[in-house]
Amino acid sequence: MARYTGAVCKLCRREGQKLFLKGGRCYTNKCAIERRSYAPGQHGQGRKKISGYGMQLREKQKARRYYGVLEGQFHKYFLMAEKMQGQAGENLLRICESRLDNIVYLLGWADSRAEGRQLVTHGHFCVNGKKVDIPSYLCKAGDVISIKEKSAQTDAMKNIIEANGSRPVPAWLDLNREENTAKIVNLPERDQIEAPVAEHLIVEFYSK
Ligand code: SF4
Repeated sequence: MARYTGAVCKLCRREGQKLFLKGGRCYTNKCAIERRSYAPGQHGQGRKKISGYGMQLREKQKARRYYGVLEGQFHKYFLMAEKMQGQAGENLLRICESRLDNIVYLLGWADSRAEGRQLVTHGHFCVNGKKVDIPSYLCKAGDVISIKEKSAQTDAMKNIIEANGSRPVPAWLDLNREENTAKIVNLPERDQIEAPVAEHLIVEFYSK
């Protein structure tokens, strides 16, 4: 199961905006974007003019980085999205949102999507009562996600839940904080998805 292992703050700096890839640090003045809001590398502060293709590429890269998905998987999602009813761009974001690691993060059960991925891999969550340890597992409307009882009792998990308790949970997820369960009411509409992405540019990128 491949994943990006390089420096993540560089990814935000490349995209020129916060992608909130590091959890708590992203909300402090230690955030790299606050300190150096230009692209990394020797030419990071150089020419800013960007071509149409460049904009499409950047948008696609931003979405991949935001959700922590590698190119091969992301392209597969696009092909799936194209075959679904409705707009391919919106479908693509909806697929990314329905990943188990993303949902775990949105529920406040992980500090970041990357941590969500790790916690899922370590088998701390169930979907409809069965352990699922695949971060890319695509959840459906009606699915019930829960923290495994034993995992919920660990200090580490309690600390994560407490630290993220004030983070708003999207309306398409019905979180029961007492039971540590959440039901997916419906998969999100575009206005319920916070990804800072112009998805039509991604569609244009892959449609060439
Ligand atoms: Fe991005 Fe967070 Fe790093 Fe800031 S601290 S650059 S938001 S990953």
